[in-house]
Amino acid sequence: METLDYDVAIVGTGLAGLRTAIEILRKDKGRLGVKVAVISKIYLMRSHSVSAEGGTSAVLYPEEGDSFELMAWDTIKGSDFLADQDAVWRFVHLATQEIRLIERWGVPWNRREDGRIEQRWFGGLSFPRATYAQDKTGFFEMRALYDTLLKYDNWDRFDENFVTSVVIENGQFKGFTAIDLRTGNFRYFRAKAGVIATGGAGQLYRITSMAASSTGDGYGIAYNAGLPLKDMEFVQFHPTGLVPRGLLITEAARGEGAYLINKDGERFMKRYAPSKMELAPRDIVSRAIMKEIMEGRGIYDEHSGLYHVWLDMRHLGKERIEEKLPFIREIGLKYLGIDIVDQPLPIRPTVHYNMGGIHTDIDGKVLMANGTPVRGLWAAGEAACVSIHGANRLGSNGTNDCLVYGYIVGNDVYNYIERERPQYPDQPRTALSAEEDRIFGRILGRESGGEDVYQLRNELKDTMERYVHVYRTGSELEKAVVKIKELKERYKNIRLTDRSRTFNYNLQHALELGFMLDIAHVIAQGALLRTESRGAHARLDYPNRDDEHWLKHTIALRSDGEPSFSYIPVRITMWKPVARVY
Ligand SMILES: Cc1cc2nc3c(=O)[nH]c(=O)nc-3n(C[C@H](O)[C@H](O)[C@H](O)COP(=O)(O)OP(=O)(O)OC[C@H]3O[C@@H](n4cnc5c(N)ncnc54)[C@H](O)[C@@H]3O)c2cc1C
Repeated sequence: METLDYDVAIVGTGLAGLRTAIEILRKDKGRLGVKVAVISKIYLMRSHSVSAEGGTSAVLYPEEGDSFELMAWDTIKGSDFLADQDAVWRFVHLATQEIRLIERWGVPWNRREDGRIEQRWFGGLSFPRATYAQDKTGFFEMRALYDTLLKYDNWDRFDENFVTSVVIENGQFKGFTAIDLRTGNFRYFRAKAGVIATGGAGQLYRITSMAASSTGDGYGIAYNAGLPLKDMEFVQFHPTGLVPRGLLITEAARGEGAYLINKDGERFMKRYAPSKMELAPRDIVSRAIMKEIMEGRGIYDEHSGLYHVWLDMRHLGKERIEEKLPFIREIGLKYLGIDIVDQPLPIRPTVHYNMGGIHTDIDGKVLMANGTPVRGLWAAGEAACVSIHGANRLGSNGTNDCLVYGYIVGNDVYNYIERERPQYPDQPRTALSAEEDRIFGRILGRESGGEDVYQLRNELKDTMERYVHVYRTGSELEKAVVKIKELKERYKNIRLTDRSRTFNYNLQHALELGFMLDIAHVIAQGALLRTESRGAHARLDYPNRDDEHWLKHTIALRSDGEPSFSYIPVRITMWKPVARVY
């Protein structure tokens, strides 16, 4: 085992991880010589953030009618009142500075005629405040952050290092364990402070817009360490995933005016959100599409056996499409041979985002079951649940969450190091050897048994796709829980076909599957217990929101391999919940 010493170890190099690293180095300016390790299981710039398309919300034009209050209201109403309102209030104020800052770092925002930054409509907004760079916003943001990070010396990157666990003893963070994928060597990142910025878990489903690397490892790592996960049953389905695999067709398409039409050529959103139409929030549009399909107004796709509706952009005209949605045109052409200039795209809801995540406080400090922070551990971005997005995130509020929380967490980490001058922790020998034995002895070294990683993964994806989808019922969720438990049992018996150490993806996938099974269990069981419909959690057997019993966050903890649940209040500081109509 190799020990690597750093003041701060950041797991994840998406927008949240990179922004955190920059903030720490930028605050330090070499004063304390804080050394940062930036760790990613894939090549740094391949992090899922790079594929964010449509935009990043912030208040830029109060003189034209936008305001912090309006953005906070949109976010809280969008969350179906499950967001913590003090966190939202802080978030909306910090988003503006991030837009200006990353512009200086090189993001080429689209411009108005007069040269000022342009913004566009997104679902659930009362003002067009999604700031964008064509339909490749995440790519340009990632590039600007990466270029900025290169200006600093005091950091090292560890691409293709797979983090397997977080070590915490007596409420103190002590580092991360990892596998160097190139050599298969076991590593201990010993650090004074740690940040988990590992993104979401779209890969639990078959149809998802999220990257192959979005397997929710950070959730699993925290959960295995006995830390609580919050609100995991709220999984966002983006309405417009390209059939068959769910590749994202950005909401910006509807922001630019695209229509949703059913098999009769009807703009069906008039039945579900008459005032906002296609620009209602994602949960509402996803349900509308599924309703159309369930009631026989979808279109059958022979190749995939899936039903879909159409996303129609023909009326936007070639010039506007080329200027504002070039990537979407390219996706249509490359994947389906369809030119959106003269044909509509077949779409259906696709898994896109996890509203839930690692339970943190308003500063991103990771909380323990007793509600106090782990000393020296933070989480940011999609891995964390603060909670800003409650039961449903608004489009264009994901990238800004990463930027704002990268800033907040980076600051908080630096203050901790500056004020408390923590020392390197003692080597937690028992924890390290137990982890090494789990990976190399019990998983890689297993001779007997016969379960195949990919078979189990496929069965898991099918289960989630079938029983834990846009619409849920108690009996289907029960079936999901039973099946997931069966898969967890079978997982104990997995056997790898690749037994080598070098770039052993079979081993990586096995470890990921372990996390995925646990997370799926938390999601399905949490959804079964929540007997109401709120935001992205829609129960056909409990169709109404029930504030009297369920205006609360779900907290899931691991106990004996099974999740156990408790609930904590939502912080309501500004607006009492009202009916959510658009
Ligand atoms: C297709 C798509 C389009 C989107 N478009 C928008 C948009 O237009 N606007 C918007 O606001 N939001 C958008 N979102 C949402 C938003 O982009 C994401 O929520 C956000 O980028 C997540 O960033 P992150 O930094 O939390 O993690 P990610 O970018 O997902 O990065 C995760 C990082 O963690 C690392 N990691 C994970 N597990 C391990 C491990 N075990 N060991 C080591 N490293 C690990 C990965 O290597 C990676 O570096 C979009 C999302 C998708 C999927």
